[in-house]
Amino acid sequence: MTTDLHPRLQALQRQLSPSPLMPIIDSALTAYGVELWIKRDDLLHPIISGNKWRKLKYILNHALFEGADSIVSMGGAYSNHLHALAYVGQLLGLKTAAYVRGECPAQPSETLIDLMSWNMALTFVSRSDYRALRRYKDHDSLPDRLQGAYWLPEGGATELALQGVGELLSEVESDFDVMMVACGTGTTLAGLIRAAAPTCQLIGVAALKGGGFLVDDVQALLGLSAMPAASSWQILQDYHAGGFAKTTPALNQFIVDFRHRHGIALDTVYTGKLLYAAYDLIKQGYFSVGQRILLMHTGGLQGNRGRF
Ligand SMILES: *Cc1c(COP(=O)(O)O)cnc(C)c1O
Repeated sequence: MTTDLHPRLQALQRQLSPSPLMPIIDSALTAYGVELWIKRDDLLHPIISGNKWRKLKYILNHALFEGADSIVSMGGAYSNHLHALAYVGQLLGLKTAAYVRGECPAQPSETLIDLMSWNMALTFVSRSDYRALRRYKDHDSLPDRLQGAYWLPEGGATELALQGVGELLSEVESDFDVMMVACGTGTTLAGLIRAAAPTCQLIGVAALKGGGFLVDDVQALLGLSAMPAASSWQILQDYHAGGFAKTTPALNQFIVDFRHRHGIALDTVYTGKLLYAAYDLIKQGYFSVGQRILLMHTGGLQGNRGRF
């Protein structure tokens, strides 16, 4: 399926080139005989990095063609999703607004400071009000929505996001046996499942505790149309390091070592857990000799600021 891109998005698209695909050569893994690669979507753009741009692309396209003049969404004080949305909104001439979980901190996070400088209108809501907002899944479902506003659920988790994620794979020319990605809402995983070759095995790594619901959410995003997609997929539930945005000394150490040895920065929330899981599986002998594994660097490094 091809979708026409709105002229304002075409102008932005022209500034982005395919992100690099790099091998990870690591003497610690030689004994296991697998080939490890990483898709560097963290290098896609200095601000709109990683899967957030992939997910937003066709959502914003829809909003523009619908004639929306503003986008309203929700997220936490370190949200990569809001960060990308606020920035892109400015570039595209769309107003943005967001419900932010919790009270406005006395010392706003770097993320919040950026959101305000890009003129995103922020409304801080209690945790219970925040949870209640999750029930609005469609772009026109928010009850107090203003005329011309387009509602975007948490993390950009809508079916429209899958197409942009699928485009990531059109930049990957060779075949991989396994692809791995960190999961928050599971939308990126769903996009990969839909676009992957049927022989490819997809592994999601839940960044949060109690992520059993992710399987249903991914299935719902895929719908029945996606039945003949990637032959197998699963979501690992044991690499959350204590919960969403939690970390452990072992995970922190892994991230520091990885950066030191490979020059690639990871965040503690998503990509650190992904790489940690991949190394753990390889060392357990989970993969067969000769298998080619692709890890998705989904970006998110802005959220590290002031925290790690
Ligand atoms: C948001 C995010 C994810 C999770 O993406 P989902 O589509 O919500 O599963 C993974 N990695 C990074 C860096 C992110 O910012």
